[in-house]
Amino acid sequence: MTGARVRARRLDAQAQGLTREHVSSNAVDVTTKLQDAGFAGLLVGGCVRDLLLGLTPKDFDVATDATPEQVKDLFRRSRLVGRRFRIAHVRYGRELIEVSTFRRAVADKADERHHSDAGMILRDNVYGTLEEDAFRRDFTINALYYDPQSEEVIDFVGGLQDLKDRCIRFIGDTSTRIREDPVRVLRAIRFQAKLEFDPEPAIADYFEEAAELMAAIPPARLFDEIQKLLLSGQAAQGWRLLAGTPLRQALFPGCNPEEPLIDRAMRNTDERIRVGKPVTPGFLLAVLLWRDYQNRIGEFEGQLKPSEARVHAASDCLAVQQQIIAVPRRFSQFIREVWQLQDRLEHRLARSIERLAGHVRFRAAYDFLVIRAETEQGATAVELAEAAEWWTRYQEVGAEKQSAMIEERRTSQPRKKRRRRRGRRRPTDVDSSSAEINLADSESP
Ligand code: ATP
Ligand code: MG
Repeated sequence: MTGARVRARRLDAQAQGLTREHVSSNAVDVTTKLQDAGFAGLLVGGCVRDLLLGLTPKDFDVATDATPEQVKDLFRRSRLVGRRFRIAHVRYGRELIEVSTFRRAVADKADERHHSDAGMILRDNVYGTLEEDAFRRDFTINALYYDPQSEEVIDFVGGLQDLKDRCIRFIGDTSTRIREDPVRVLRAIRFQAKLEFDPEPAIADYFEEAAELMAAIPPARLFDEIQKLLLSGQAAQGWRLLAGTPLRQALFPGCNPEEPLIDRAMRNTDERIRVGKPVTPGFLLAVLLWRDYQNRIGEFEGQLKPSEARVHAASDCLAVQQQIIAVPRRFSQFIREVWQLQDRLEHRLARSIERLAGHVRFRAAYDFLVIRAETEQGATAVELAEAAEWWTRYQEVGAEKQSAMIEERRTSQPRKKRRRRRGRRRPTDVDSSSAEINLADSESP
C-alpha cells in the first residue's frame, strides 16, 4: 500500500466550499512559516474534514516534512510532546496548533519490531512522505490536506467522495487496519455519532475482535479516546452506539448500559457543550460507574460502618476500572467526592448544610443528585426528588431564608445521639486521606 505511487487529486478548495477565512489565522501562520522556511506545511485531518462539511473545527492540526526538532527551532512558543510519537505544540495565546511530521505505516512483516504477533502496531514513529502520511491515517475522510497558500485540497484516498457520500471508510483493508489498532473502531463510533455518517458495514463485524484486543491498549490511551467520545457533544448518541456492543462490555464491565441515569447525564452534557458551559469527563464517569459503586457498597453491609463501606466501595470500583481505562487522579478524586457527597446531600443534616453548600464539588454533586432524582425508580425516588428540590430552593433564596431552611431542618430532625468516634479504627487498606478529603465529619447514619 505504501509502496505504490498514487496520483493525488489536487482540487480548488473554494470550489469545495472551503475558504481561508474559515481557518484559524494562527494555523495559517504556522503553515506560512513552515513553507517560507522551505518545508511543507498543510492542514490535515479533522479540521479539513470539518471545514469541508461546514462545521467549526475543534482544533487545527498541521502536517509537515520538518522534523519535530526543526519545528521547535522555527517557533519560539513551541514545545515537543507525545506519548506515542513526538509532535510539536505551537502556542498562540489560548490556541494550540499541533504540528506533526509526516509518518508512514510500517510495512507489515518486514519490520517485526513494529508489530505484535496479532498485527497490532507497537511503534509508528517512522517518518515518511506526504503520500505515506495520507495512507497511514484511519479513515478516508480524515486523510484530506488543505494548503492555505495555494488554496488546494489534496486527496490521495477518495476522502472527498466519501465526505459527499457521508461514509466512514477505512483506508485499505478494514480487518488489517482494525487489527493494527483496534482503537480505530471506537473512533469510527465517535465519528458516526458526531457526523451522523454511516460507517462501512464491515466495521461492525469486527466489534467482537476489537473488544478482545482492548486489553492490550494502554489504559491512558483508552482514557483519551473515551474522553473524546464523552465530550464530543454527541455523547448520548455515541453511548447508544457503543452500549449494545462487546466494546462497551470490554471498556466498562461493571456498567449496566441501559441505566436511565446514563442517557440523561449524557444528554445533559451534550446540551452543556452546545451552550458553552464547562464539562468534565469525571461527571460522566461518575455516572457510568454509579450503579457498580452502589452494588459494591451493598457487599460491605454488616461488615463496615456505612461511611466506611462507601469509601471502600469507591476505591474498589475505581481500581477495577483503572485497569482498563486510566482515569487521571484529578478526575478519580472528583468522582469520589461527587459520590461521597450524594449521601450527605440527601440527608441534609442541619449542622452540615452550610459546609456542603460551600464544598468545591457542591455544584457537580447537586447536578448529580438532580439527575438521579429525575431517573430513579421506586421508593427512593420520592426522597431523592424532595432532597433535590430542597437544594434547588436553598440556592435560589437569600441568606436569611437559607438560615430559616437550616433551622427548619434542625427542628424537623431531632438530633441523634452521636456515636463516640474517639479511638475508632479505620481500615488500614484504604487511602483515607484522599477518599474523605473535605468530608471528614462523618455525619451519615
Ligand atoms: P476531532 O475533530 O474529533 O479531533 P480528528 O479526526 O481530528 O477528530 P484526532 O484524534 O484529533 O481526530 O486525530 C487527528 C488525525 O490523526 C485524524 O484525523 C487521523 O487522520 C489521524 N489519526 C488519529 N488517530 C488515528 C489512528 N488511531 N490511526 C490512524 N490515524 C489516526
Ligand atoms: Mg483533531
